[in-house]
Amino acid sequence: MNETIKGYVYRLKPTAKQINLINQTFGCVRKIWNILLLERKSIYELYGKYPELLNSHQYMNPKYIKEQFPYMYDVDSQSLTTAWLYLKQAYTNFFNQSHDEPKYKSRHNPIQSYTTHTTNDNIRIEDTYIKLPKLGLVKMKLHRALPQGSIIKAATIKKDGKHYYVSLRVEYEPLILGEKTFEKAIGLDYTLQGLYMDSEGHQADYPNYYKESLEKLKKEQQISSRRVKGSSNYLKQKEKLASLHLHIKNQRKDFLHKASRYLVNTYDLISIETLDLTEMAKTKHFRKSIYDTSFGTFTRYLEYKAKDEGKILIKIDKYYPSTKTCSQCGRERDMLLFERTYHCMCGHKMDRDLNAAINIGVQGLIAYATKAYGTDAIAW
Ligand SMILES: [Zn+2]
Repeated sequence: MNETIKGYVYRLKPTAKQINLINQTFGCVRKIWNILLLERKSIYELYGKYPELLNSHQYMNPKYIKEQFPYMYDVDSQSLTTAWLYLKQAYTNFFNQSHDEPKYKSRHNPIQSYTTHTTNDNIRIEDTYIKLPKLGLVKMKLHRALPQGSIIKAATIKKDGKHYYVSLRVEYEPLILGEKTFEKAIGLDYTLQGLYMDSEGHQADYPNYYKESLEKLKKEQQISSRRVKGSSNYLKQKEKLASLHLHIKNQRKDFLHKASRYLVNTYDLISIETLDLTEMAKTKHFRKSIYDTSFGTFTRYLEYKAKDEGKILIKIDKYYPSTKTCSQCGRERDMLLFERTYHCMCGHKMDRDLNAAINIGVQGLIAYATKAYGTDAIAW
């Protein structure tokens, strides 16, 4: 078994009621910790010289503390048990001389946290919410999905200043296909707006400075058309246009380099469309003159960067109907050029480009798994 444990941190957007309960839990966890610490310190002072007495002295049971402070029953009981375990561990580390003596926790520390462990699937992500014990569904900013097949082992709820976060300890088995092991795969759908939409819903768009340069070019071209051909002003304007063209080309290259570098560094398997501009112009209404150079260059950059890094790039069969296929049920339907949302009779409703990107990502995985990618795929 090749399990990997990783941490994922997400920003939380709790309701006022949930904030109250979270803060209450911080308080209870601090209290448990401080009571246990006080007890340990006193015992250490009393029996420090007599190790056999010290060892026989059991840690106070958190249940006993809860009975003294019944409001502790209102908060996640796992968080209290965890505090108790952490204190025991802190003392073990102290006695091992690997750590300093544990310290009291202060309510004035701007960073507060508690940790809870999963039992019976009680911690899980549901859409853009995370289900947490006692708190119920807490809104979160899911900027990055957990890897497929992940199991959430523990969650630490943290407050840093005004902001709340959850950090998840996740265990998963990496996907093994063929002889390659990889953890992260992604599909890209080239888009009319910007560069592409990926199968995680992230849209890569050109930076504003690039768009501003294009606007400027348009203006300068208009000025140029008003000049008398052959005049000195015409020639000056011509020179200005040439240098602006070069500037734009460099800005574009720079952006495409960064975008392809990011993908190759982040993902192990990248699936893209096979570049067929005539076909793409039909299904996506690309204005060929503006976009073709970018997609071609971007594809080339992806190819050689993937090769250098030992990553896999798969080009999906150009006849695969990524736009027409439902990424949920696999049915096909015709899509009009300006239909922005994919609606399927199965009830699936999704942004057109995202639906296509997911299809491309899945096709890439299937192609790789079955080694059916033939000559169109570049794999190492
Ligand atoms: Zn469907």
